[in-house]
Amino acid sequence: MSLASLSKRAAMLYRHRTLKTPHGPLETPVLFPVRNIGKRSSDNTPEYADSIPDLRTAMVNTRAIRQRGPQWDRLLEGATIREEMGVPSKTILYADSGGFDYRSKEVDTTPKQVLETQRQLDADIYGTLDRPLSPENRAVENQQRIEESTTYALQASDAHEGEALLFASVHGHDPKTIRNTLRYLERKGDFDGYALGSLVPIRTDYKKVTKLILSARRVTDKHLHVYGLGGIVYQPLLLYLGVDSFDSSAFIRSAGNRNYLVPGFGGTELHSIEELEHLPCSCPVCCSRPLSTIRKDRNLLTQHNLWSLVTELRRFRYMVAGDYDIEAYLDLRFEHNEVTQRAYQMAKQQVRRFT
Ligand SMILES: [Zn+2]
Repeated sequence: MSLASLSKRAAMLYRHRTLKTPHGPLETPVLFPVRNIGKRSSDNTPEYADSIPDLRTAMVNTRAIRQRGPQWDRLLEGATIREEMGVPSKTILYADSGGFDYRSKEVDTTPKQVLETQRQLDADIYGTLDRPLSPENRAVENQQRIEESTTYALQASDAHEGEALLFASVHGHDPKTIRNTLRYLERKGDFDGYALGSLVPIRTDYKKVTKLILSARRVTDKHLHVYGLGGIVYQPLLLYLGVDSFDSSAFIRSAGNRNYLVPGFGGTELHSIEELEHLPCSCPVCCSRPLSTIRKDRNLLTQHNLWSLVTELRRFRYMVAGDYDIEAYLDLRFEHNEVTQRAYQMAKQQVRRFT
């Protein structure tokens, strides 16, 4: 299938696919909400698995769970991570390596150990052990980290067996590095998809991030995940660029800052809104409660924010299904923000050349 036939109208890399996982089929593109599963009482992710039907997914941190003594012991004794999280047994889990910690610390594990933990978690998607780039942009050190992550990915590929999907974690801050790394991994390893990392520290540079994602999309037709950028502003851009999945903890972080996310607008700090009685959202949290109640309750705000992320995705899917002009939609979508607008204009030119 040519890339051009994937989009119905205009130039667009957006694609709809079904990924086969051990816990059932997964319709993509899809969001993996980041689950902060600490002690049960401090799990600040709201219960969404039963209330949001198209969100049967979660991203968990392999390293954090492995290091959490009592919880890890319970898992070894036969408890399941899904029980620990209080989610249905069919929830599709993506376990990243937790490599984010290795930005500033030495690597104290091996690709094989990470895989064993991911297997113990009964995860559906394994992210390979990786070493994110130093944000200080130290060229030599970052080059080493890119090579380290690539080696780890290939070791994971060798050691991996079973039904779970293996996504190689790929890092790089220039398109050529991304292209070369992906080509090398395609040739030498066996992966079900790729996950781009190290983009969070440079996320305000939309143009750069757009170029990096497009360089990956050009090289592989396999599943493409982007770590950490599934927030309300990035989502439509990622969908347009043909990203198949993304994860986000933005709904939790925003709620912590009393930020109320609205699809199409972004975030607004609730303390700046005084006069309204009701907020402009029809999610189950907002439809019947006054602003004053939601303002006070961080959990409600977190829940609403997650609905907003899901609504953003549903809206995009709706536009595609209804055969609307996605580029016109995105023109409007990014109109009010000069930075994202410029990134989108550039993406549009590149996508048109690509398709
Ligand atoms: Zn709402």
